[in-house]
Amino acid sequence: MSFAATVLTLFPEMFPGPLGTSLAGSALARGDWSLRAYDIRNHGLGRHRAVDDTPAGGGAGMVLRADVLAAAIDAVSPAGDARPRLLMSPRGRPLAQSRVRELAAGPGAVIVCGRFEGVDERVIAGRGLEEVSIGDYVLSGGEIAAMIVLDACVRLLPGVMGKTASGEEESFENDLLEYPHYTKPRDWEGGGIPEVLLSGDHARIARWRRAEAERLTRERRPDLMRKRENSENGA
Ligand code: SAM
Repeated sequence: MSFAATVLTLFPEMFPGPLGTSLAGSALARGDWSLRAYDIRNHGLGRHRAVDDTPAGGGAGMVLRADVLAAAIDAVSPAGDARPRLLMSPRGRPLAQSRVRELAAGPGAVIVCGRFEGVDERVIAGRGLEEVSIGDYVLSGGEIAAMIVLDACVRLLPGVMGKTASGEEESFENDLLEYPHYTKPRDWEGGGIPEVLLSGDHARIARWRRAEAERLTRERRPDLMRKRENSENGA
């Protein structure tokens, strides 16, 4: 069964966008995954197909209506749909590679893209939406965030990356950042390639890479290192 993605958006024309090129695009063309961009405005109200309204309690901006969004979700993801329903949201749980792996191993995802100030709170619980953030900054809409989630998932689907990049040694696997890479030329602007990588000694190379991964993680992401040490100590 392939990975089925449905994206609910006010801008369906933004899709597939970058997901139609390179690795994700080839996989899409092969049918390794499918993508449906569904216009929330199909369920808009009145002559102007309104989807939003002013925030209860006052304040700036507009809010996506619960009734409109729920109708759109129900149209593409009826009860019994096994796919998780995600809501792109800056206040959601930060996206991590572990969640990406879980999603990629499942039947797909229904992804709601917010706009304006966000969505009516009631639809989040009412339709079981899992709020997912792609980082501590605010985008103007959830579409690019949804593309990021899908790109991260699709590259992990069987057959998409091929054997050159299994993903098992990449950054964030085992809570480590990846070790440095080198390729030709052997000497470039006065810099060489670490001798160990040219030694042909695979055990030594593996030890060097491991040590470099730990060094970089300690320097750049002490939070990941602490997480790693805690899980090793069973905390
Ligand atoms: N008022 C909201 C807040 O302060 O949390 C920001 C709304 S933002 C302008 C509009 C939409 O963009 C959000 O509903 C969400 O779907 C999306 N979005 C913005 N930043 C995001 C992020 N860091 N991660 C995921 N989605 C994001």
